Amino acid sequence: MAEAQAQAKAGKLSIRNIGLLLSGDLDRPILDADALVAVAGKIVGMGKAQDLDLSGADVTVDAKGSALCPGLIDSHVHPVFGDWTPRQNQFGWIESFLHGGVTTMISAGEVHLPGRPKDIVGLKALAVTAQRAFANLRPAGVKVLAGAPVLEQGMTEADFKDLAGWGVKLLGEVGLGSVKAGAEAKQMVAWARKHGIQSTIHTGGPSIPGSGLIDQDVVLEADADVIGHINGGHTALPLNQIRALCERSVRAIEIVHNGNERAALHALTIARESKQLHRVILGTDSPAGSGVQPLGILRMIALLSSLGELPAELAFCLATGNTARTRGLQQGLIAVGRPADLVLLDRAQHTAGKTLLESVRLGDIPGIGMSIVDGVVLIQRSRNTPPSTAAPEIVR
Ligand SMILES: [Zn+2]
Repeated sequence: MAEAQAQAKAGKLSIRNIGLLLSGDLDRPILDADALVAVAGKIVGMGKAQDLDLSGADVTVDAKGSALCPGLIDSHVHPVFGDWTPRQNQFGWIESFLHGGVTTMISAGEVHLPGRPKDIVGLKALAVTAQRAFANLRPAGVKVLAGAPVLEQGMTEADFKDLAGWGVKLLGEVGLGSVKAGAEAKQMVAWARKHGIQSTIHTGGPSIPGSGLIDQDVVLEADADVIGHINGGHTALPLNQIRALCERSVRAIEIVHNGNERAALHALTIARESKQLHRVILGTDSPAGSGVQPLGILRMIALLSSLGELPAELAFCLATGNTARTRGLQQGLIAVGRPADLVLLDRAQHTAGKTLLESVRLGDIPGIGMSIVDGVVLIQRSRNTPPSTAAPEIVR
């Protein structure tokens, strides 16, 4: 319903006076472009304004020199229902993330549901319900990919076949349920993969009472598609184990906000040194014990760029194009035919950085000026970031 409404509203969108176009693609992070056109929610062109047909738009945005980047993707969240989380008893947390530039979230399991069913029928029913509920209604317009069942002992291949047939595409973090041994996890991850369901494994110490340690040996044996929060959620493995995971696995390396920052920087350094930056993706792992972090992805970008000495234009790719490729998503890249999920942003007012990229490199988070999903402007100046220096405007 919400999706149908959004698509109905998305006619032609023209954006001009873009000061910097960040593509989300590590191989070509900056495009030579100052304008972008989207029709019916899809990008149809970007480049120099004089080479594009910006006329006849239903909505024209003057970026006022702001940068444009793909809407940020949070690779690791724990939604429950709608825009409510019981974890810290908050409403509106997803809308707050939209104000932090996040336009897509990926569930790593609806684990916080009070009374979460742990029997196999119950966990399958919850996964289908969550998948349907978030597909039917996007909280605040944010795309939440949910319906990620938590593995429990006794599941058989038939259960994974059922789930796949019912539209479930993700597993909740392996290790949060009763399946914690490497061999058992390996079997279930393989069944999931065979049926087109992507898997993520919890890495590190227990997150809350009742969860357990998942160490290097279990992660390597289980071989899930994503090494979930390689920097711990919150408690990290020893740094030599993080190195081993980066070097001995070929799977995605997920770094999260609700983890250990030193371990995050270590994982980034190893990935860069071994030319594996394309495997690095970012998440918040919120809601969590430390709350929800609407600016968590922006803070990760600033952390990895400043203390990790990663050029800022590359840091943005870790939260956009890399995640898109890893997760098989269309959004997350500025390219023709891709969904027009976009964020306009600029250096925060009074940062020491002279440009957006320099400000991020100095460790300051940028200001969000506008967030757009499927070609529809959802919010203008963010109520959560510092004010951006340039403020984009809808001119008609
Ligand atoms: Zn976890």
